[in-house]
Amino acid sequence: MTETADQESTVVAEQVSPATAFSLVAHETRVEILEALRAADGGPLSFGEIRETVEVDDPGHCHYHVDRLTNRFVRKSNEGYRLSPAGWQLVGAVVSGGLTASLSPETVSAAGSCSECDGSLVARLRASGVTVECAACSHVQTDPDLPPGILMDWPRAEIPRVVGRYLRRWEVDAAHGFCPNCDGRVDRVVSIPTDPTAPDWFDGDGVDAVVVTECQRCGCWWHAAVPIAALAEPSVVAFHHEHGIDLREHPWWTLDHLEIGTANVTENPRRVTVPMELGGERRTFVFDGSFEFVDEYRAQK
Ligand SMILES: [Zn+2]
Ligand SMILES: [Zn+2]
Repeated sequence: MTETADQESTVVAEQVSPATAFSLVAHETRVEILEALRAADGGPLSFGEIRETVEVDDPGHCHYHVDRLTNRFVRKSNEGYRLSPAGWQLVGAVVSGGLTASLSPETVSAAGSCSECDGSLVARLRASGVTVECAACSHVQTDPDLPPGILMDWPRAEIPRVVGRYLRRWEVDAAHGFCPNCDGRVDRVVSIPTDPTAPDWFDGDGVDAVVVTECQRCGCWWHAAVPIAALAEPSVVAFHHEHGIDLREHPWWTLDHLEIGTANVTENPRRVTVPMELGGERRTFVFDGSFEFVDEYRAQK
């Protein structure tokens, strides 16, 4: 993917610096104007309607702030003002709660059982994320940070499943080539502990290989055990579907057939094989070193 930077420079032209973009919205009234447009489903709103909503007495003052937003975050047409795509992105970041909200500490029971002791699982809410762990031995299944807004409109009992779906979406985005944080292009590599480029913390203890995903634009990165990342692959989704499992509804830590730590890596060229067994049917899924799907093998048991 070394040609990415060149390709990007031919089609994407930076028009303002990040500092300039932030300075354009860095005023309470301008944030209120964007909020007013969002509440109106993106607009259009006339200048008078915007002014009423944000309650700025001086029309000149209000005009000044609307003008600062116009072109980059707001578009003006004969019908009035609308949110631009950049405006939608900005209000999305605000209403996701990632900037403004935090979670209240709470514990709800979660489906699935502990990979260590078979005990039942709980989801513990932290200020900035959720920990799914064993109620008996405290072994942690997953421990992600999350934008609090994703849990806002769901019943408490649904929280563990919502967390599972949200985490799944990161791998699905990456399988499509996008960064879930900034929509930039991502690179993926299958990493084993002896790789010179393997992350320092990765010692192979209990996990043969991980898929490391890194965004070329924002630098955001994360890793997943190979069988977990494989759950975003269409052939793996289809295998589960054939056996009555909708992977959107079953977080990976509830899938007892998943051999989380198991992935066989061979070299020249690098291939990683992931075995899975459902309903007596065994499949082996094969990926290359960039975690692109290569092949699958079927075997009846
Ligand atoms: Zn346990
Ligand atoms: Zn990114």
